[in-house]
Amino acid sequence: MDAEQLREYGHKMVDFIADYYKNIESFPVLSQVQPGYLRELLPESAPPHPDTLQDVLNDVQSKLLPGVTHWQSPNYFAYFPSNSSIAGFLGEMLSAGINMVGFSWIASPAATELEMLVLDWLAKALNLPDDFLSTGQGGGVIQGTASEAVLVALLAARDKVLRRIGKEALGNLVVYCSDQTHSAIQKACQIAGIHSKNCRALKTDSCNDYALSPESLDEAIKQDLTIGLIPFFLCATVGSTSSTAVDPLRALGKIAKSNGIWLHVDAAYAGSACVCPEFRIYIDGVEEADSFNMNAHKWFLTNFDCSALWVKDRSAVIHSLSTNPEYLKNNASERNLVVDYKDWQIPLGRRFRSLKLWFVLRLYGLENLQAYIRNHVKLAKYFEDLVAQDSRFEIAVPRKFSLVCFRLLPPQSNEHCANKLNHDLLDAVNSTGKVFISHTVLSDKYTLRFAVGAPLTEERHIVAAWKILQDEATTLLRTVQS
Ligand code: PLP
Repeated sequence: MDAEQLREYGHKMVDFIADYYKNIESFPVLSQVQPGYLRELLPESAPPHPDTLQDVLNDVQSKLLPGVTHWQSPNYFAYFPSNSSIAGFLGEMLSAGINMVGFSWIASPAATELEMLVLDWLAKALNLPDDFLSTGQGGGVIQGTASEAVLVALLAARDKVLRRIGKEALGNLVVYCSDQTHSAIQKACQIAGIHSKNCRALKTDSCNDYALSPESLDEAIKQDLTIGLIPFFLCATVGSTSSTAVDPLRALGKIAKSNGIWLHVDAAYAGSACVCPEFRIYIDGVEEADSFNMNAHKWFLTNFDCSALWVKDRSAVIHSLSTNPEYLKNNASERNLVVDYKDWQIPLGRRFRSLKLWFVLRLYGLENLQAYIRNHVKLAKYFEDLVAQDSRFEIAVPRKFSLVCFRLLPPQSNEHCANKLNHDLLDAVNSTGKVFISHTVLSDKYTLRFAVGAPLTEERHIVAAWKILQDEATTLLRTVQS
């Protein structure tokens, strides 16, 4: 690595990215390319001799950017946000620059110690119970994604119970979640060897705003116990993917505790909001949980990937995931003086991810982060009000955070027609390239999702998006009626 070349090329790259952000609104938000488009534009093999940086950047501009869906566009309202920020970007840049692989403490002590500290900071900002802090028996770890966080928690819980009752009981272990829980739990069960018939996705409904009811959990546990099965894990969600449903943690936690069940709380998206006291109520009862995760890379200005997982009993995770090969042995680990994060995750190698979260916390400060969340919630409320004022639409579920779920109503109330109508509206809106929204199905009804959370979104983008939705709805309704 030539430091002067890095300086020159680094400046060029920063200029390129700065221009990308400056012009981001000029691209179609949802990429409009067809499958396989890139093969036709790039050579079949790597170049035998070096290209220039300018050649590569030209290709990025003309061939890659058309195939990019612009998650940082202010007109991006799909899925959930995936925030970028200058602070997160700088932390990511520094991490790439230092490029260490901090699997154990000795492999880069600052990486481990900063991660422990920053996750303690964030746990305090979220007002998590002290049991989750690294100063006690618990602690936090940064995983790549929420899916990994859920898997790690599930493995720790599985092995904890199997140590007690014997490995041959694996086939009898039961996991509970709701039909709104992210599919990450299904994948985690597959990996952990939990039989698919023993993963209970308990039914929710619109009366409870799609939250898991404690009564249905209680009943399912009782039934399973009667037939000799072993309940051991409950995944509750705060801010479900479809509609931001919030499971009642305290009531669920009490049932879990009285049955010796590990309670994991997945707050991948909504966890960020809980740095604001007025949203912290949604994780009331987290005191009962054994583990908790939130994605700082969703709505907390921290560039992808950065999923924070906290556990109360770190020894359960370490028991499940530690290995101790000769080639990694060292004094600090042998003397049990340090945390070796390789034992808290699936892979061995790990990036210096805490840097970007540390940069975000320091360069914004908690008050600005709270203001950031509140602004998105305010914008989402504004959008919700616009929808509510147009009698051709309905709000599908009451909004809690920055996601609005809504539908276009069909001229005659015909559900089949309603589903097709909303599907067509989604396609029409997204193919304008001016805005990108996504969908879900709630109670068999095709439902549109408008998730506010891109850092550059302002009120004018909400107004413009709503106008596109209304115009496309008018055109569609005209076609349906004629
Ligand atoms: N849990 C919830 C509630 C989610 O909304 C998502 C993704 O949107 C996930 C888990 C999975 O996230 P990841 O991509 O970090 O695995």
